[in-house]
Amino acid sequence: MPNYPNTQLFIDGQWGPAAAGGVLPVLNPATGEQIGTLARAEKADLDLALAAADRGFKVWRNTSAYERAKIMRTAANLLRERAEGIAHLMTMEQGKPLAESRMETLAGADIIDWFAGEAQRAYGRVIPSRAPHVFQTVVREPVGPVAAFAPWNFPINQVVRKVSAALAAGCSIIAKGPEETPASPAELVRVFADAGVPAGVINLVYGDPGTISSYLIPHPVIRKITFTGSTAIGKKLAGLAGEHMKRATMELGGHGPAIVFDDADIELATRLLAAGKFRNAGQVCVSPTRFLVQEGVYDQFVEGFAAAARAIKVGDGLAEGTVMGPLANARRVQAMEGFVQDAVQQGAKLVTGGERIGNAGNFFQPTVLSRVPTTARAMNEEPFGPLALMVPFAKLDDAITEANRLPYGLAAYAYTRSSATSQALSTSVESGMISINHAGLALVETPFGGVKESGYGSEGGSEAIDSYLVTKFITHA
Ligand code: NAD
Repeated sequence: MPNYPNTQLFIDGQWGPAAAGGVLPVLNPATGEQIGTLARAEKADLDLALAAADRGFKVWRNTSAYERAKIMRTAANLLRERAEGIAHLMTMEQGKPLAESRMETLAGADIIDWFAGEAQRAYGRVIPSRAPHVFQTVVREPVGPVAAFAPWNFPINQVVRKVSAALAAGCSIIAKGPEETPASPAELVRVFADAGVPAGVINLVYGDPGTISSYLIPHPVIRKITFTGSTAIGKKLAGLAGEHMKRATMELGGHGPAIVFDDADIELATRLLAAGKFRNAGQVCVSPTRFLVQEGVYDQFVEGFAAAARAIKVGDGLAEGTVMGPLANARRVQAMEGFVQDAVQQGAKLVTGGERIGNAGNFFQPTVLSRVPTTARAMNEEPFGPLALMVPFAKLDDAITEANRLPYGLAAYAYTRSSATSQALSTSVESGMISINHAGLALVETPFGGVKESGYGSEGGSEAIDSYLVTKFITHA
């Protein structure tokens, strides 16, 4: 098992401390103990990163797509080779079970490979002209240096999607990594550097998120921003981007409705939705959260789901057999306690869980609440934790109305054997993604993003590279 490192900044091809020497602590969420530190960037470091990204862009945009893709594929292979050590670091800093960390790291390699292919498919087009001697072409060029802000719930996945799309398009990037989980994304950046990405093309900084975003977003070197995190912060950053006319991709919060109909395969729905709910302890933007269950199968579903929740082995992510680790930080435990207390006070029934586990680390029980009133806080705010909120419904229209009630519109799920019901849901549920009768979201080749206050832009599918490219029309006679 690797020792947990002190994470440094990566600027202009060099790892190093912050100019002013500042550091922040990194805690293991399973024990609450400090396991390392990370360098805290100040404006002087950001200025160096901006100058490096500016130079790096000029080099990378003139590197052929073929060469960029080759370097990216080398990085993907290095990530696969180093996956075991990186997964250990991720579990130590984030808490998720080792198997989930391993899967996320290996999926990161697939993401790099896929975007490498996209680099070579960033086609333009020829438009037939009105005169025989005129040639009209459309080319797509990299937008420029990108500022990316990534959260702590998927330390590799959140960074690798942004970095890979930027590199594929020919952009340079300054990534602000997640301060709570810095070491595994730093190892991701290392594989790109070791694969031959030139100095300045990728820069990695950590520090005070507000200080960094308010400096980078308005800066003239930065041409595009991408953010994953809460809707509240996303709105602020999108506002700042708008003020300075910067392209933006916003992957924000969700409150996933999971609609289970009387005619569904209940065993399948229970198994897949429980696995989806408690994966990464529910700290997933596409987590199923509001379980809307038709009256005829309500009791059966709640009972089966609660049994699945009780069977989950909660523990240190490095321990053999752990299915759910601790929450990533103490704030989430407090948030869960508040959501549960409020829901019960408002009349919800606590079916299982509802309490923190032990005094060390951020462990919380897999929790099921039944007949939760729509006024409960958890029914309106993203819980971002292991809470399943069950609500019965009578008719299809009632379920659709409840699914669409919130300003969120990220992921939705449904289980039904009726193709008419599937069809109605596909067209009526306001979400960027809907997965019916299986767990099918977040593959790199498929679109990933939300509508309404869940944000805009896509971090997957052939759409993902679009926001890193600008269109130029060239006509010559
Ligand atoms: P938070 O809102 O303080 O932070 C969310 C993320 O945004 C963090 O990564 C943080 O570093 C970053 N951030 C905060 N302020 C910023 C700023 N001014 N500029 C740039 N980045 C900034 O909340 P938190 O306690 O860290 O996380 C809890 C909430 O965040 C959850 O309830 C959830 O809604 C949301 N979240 C969403 C995702 C996602 O995948 N969409 C991931 C993590 C957190």
